This record gives sequence, C-alpha cells and structure tokens, in this order.
Amino acid sequence: MTLSYPRKIDLACTPTPLQFMARATNEWGGEHRLWVKRDDLTGSILSGNKVRKLEFIAAHALDNGYDTLVTCGGLQSNHCRATAFVGAQLGLKVHLILRGEEPTDKDGNYLLDCLAGAKVSIYPARQYFKELESLFGQWQAYYAERGHNALLVPTGGSNGIGVWGYISACEELLVDFAAADISRAHLITASGSGGTQAGLTLGALLHDLPATVWGINVCDDEQYFLDKVSEDVRDWADRYPDVPEVDVRPRVLDGYVGPGYGLADPEIFDLIARLSRLEGIVLDPVYTGKAFHGMVCEIAKGTFSGVRDIVFMHTGGTFGIFPQRDGFRWPQE
Ligand SMILES: *Cc1c(COP(=O)(O)O)cnc(C)c1O
Repeated sequence: MTLSYPRKIDLACTPTPLQFMARATNEWGGEHRLWVKRDDLTGSILSGNKVRKLEFIAAHALDNGYDTLVTCGGLQSNHCRATAFVGAQLGLKVHLILRGEEPTDKDGNYLLDCLAGAKVSIYPARQYFKELESLFGQWQAYYAERGHNALLVPTGGSNGIGVWGYISACEELLVDFAAADISRAHLITASGSGGTQAGLTLGALLHDLPATVWGINVCDDEQYFLDKVSEDVRDWADRYPDVPEVDVRPRVLDGYVGPGYGLADPEIFDLIARLSRLEGIVLDPVYTGKAFHGMVCEIAKGTFSGVRDIVFMHTGGTFGIFPQRDGFRWPQE
C-alpha cells in the first residue's frame, strides 16, 4: 500500500540488518529458525528503537515552530538519552523529567544525557507518577515565559507521530524477509510504552508483511498494552485523516516482567551473558533480556508452533547494562 508518510529527519542508520542466529537457533530454536533485526545498530549513541520514532517527532517539532523538547522516563531511559542527542544534533533544547533518586554517580544513559547537555529534573517515583502531567505543564510554562516553545513528547515517544517509525520499519522487513526466504514469521518485540508494538502491528497490516506481531511487556500487564496500542493507533488515525482505516488486533505475551520494571532476576542476567557468548549480541536487563527470555519460554511452550521463522526485534538498550553491572554472576560458563 502506498502511504503518505509525514516528513522525517534522517537520524537513524537504516536499514538495519536482519541476521540469522545459527547458534541461538541450535540452543533454543526447536523447530524454528531464529532471526534478529538489529535495531541496536540504528546508531552508536542514538542506538535502539527510539530514534526511529524521533525521526518523525523531530521533523514535527521543527516544522511546527518548536525549539525545545520536553520528555520523560526513568533515570536510565533510553528514550531520554536518544532525545537528548537528537536535540543536541538539531540545535533544540532538551529537558528531561526523570524518575528516580538523584544518583551519586553518573552512569549509563544518565551520563550520556548529561554529556549531551540536556537539562535534567529528577523526581522520586511516587511524585513522578502522581504529578507527571502537571510537571510537563510546569516545564512547558517555564520555557514559554522565557520565549521558548516546548514540544511535550510522551513516554517513549509513543504517540501517533512516533508510530510512523515502526510502520516504516515494516517496509525494511519486507525486503529482509524476501532476502532471507521468510514467507511467514512471528515478530517479537519488548513493549514498554507500546509505540514500537503499535507501529509494527500497524505496519504489518498496512504493508502486508506476513508477520504476527507480539509485544512482551516489561511493565504493567496485558490489558494495559492492548489499550495503549489501540490508543496510539487512534491518535495516529486522528492526526493523519488520510490514512487507511485498519482493524488492529494487538497481541501481548504477559508474564515476563519479573520483579518489576527495570528489575531483573538472575536468570535474565545469565541469559544476557549466554547470548553474548553464543552470538556476539548484547541484550539489556530492562527490555530486550526479558523479551528474549519470554520468547525462549514461549517457544518451549509451543506458542509459535507451525511457523518456521521467528524474528526478534533487538530494540537496543545496551547502555542499560552498565548501571546494572552488579546483577551479573561471575564466573560465567
Ligand atoms: C523503549 C524501549 C523498548 C520499548 O519500546 P516501546 O515503544 O516504548 O514499547 C524496548 N527496548 C528498549 C531497549 C527500549 O529502550
């Protein structure tokens, strides 16, 4: 289907490779072939899934007279780090509303936020969750009083604008599938704010990509993500009245959150080390490690049975291993 995309700014290194994981297939694949779409290679500092959304969000900001981006996330948010560098690159001010405790050391994504020159305000989790909307409003007013026009970018860049990033990625996957002789696949992504899953689910429909898209949630629960994906799709349809009508049926595999958002059991750290050694691919303990673990468990349960190919969307997050270095058990076999 020919879609008319809104403008984007080229920020991501795309197309990213689709790679066959021979050794992981041997270990966990069973009847399946395991593939990985390397969206951890969308950039160096901009690595991960958020830059695909930010390509469209940044164009929207520049085209509508915004000079400042205000966004939010956990202290180690990949989305905030990517936004900080996109802003630096484009000459936009960036203000990050971060959830957590003021850290004694600058580490991981937070260190990078500071390097990029983003302004940072840190709030304890209780206050953050309770007051997020009003904090956005307060900072927007703060910039307005100083003559700046701040675009409020929601958690993870997940809204009707950001979803274009993964609608567009489905066009890459069409080419990848043809080259890899994949006629039908299960496509698996970690879900944190829902926008990647929403974009892939929409994109698969719009581009006739023969893939069943699954989100593995790393926070909240199945119902939350069913609702969130539908909400992002609705926002997309409202913002772009010329897009085709689609009947989106999101699919969520719940049960892999572990102890909570950003908190992982030792088995997740072990899996990260195991895949590093098998494939030279590094997952993270917040998103991709849990999603990969979920995929392995669901393969063992037979969830994907009858379809040969499984594609794991590697959404990045590598910097998240550094502040969680103490979670790894040494020595590793
Ligand atoms: C944000 C993020 C996700 C989740 O993507 P959403 O679009 O927010 O659901 C997955 N993996 C990594 C590494 C992320 O940073």
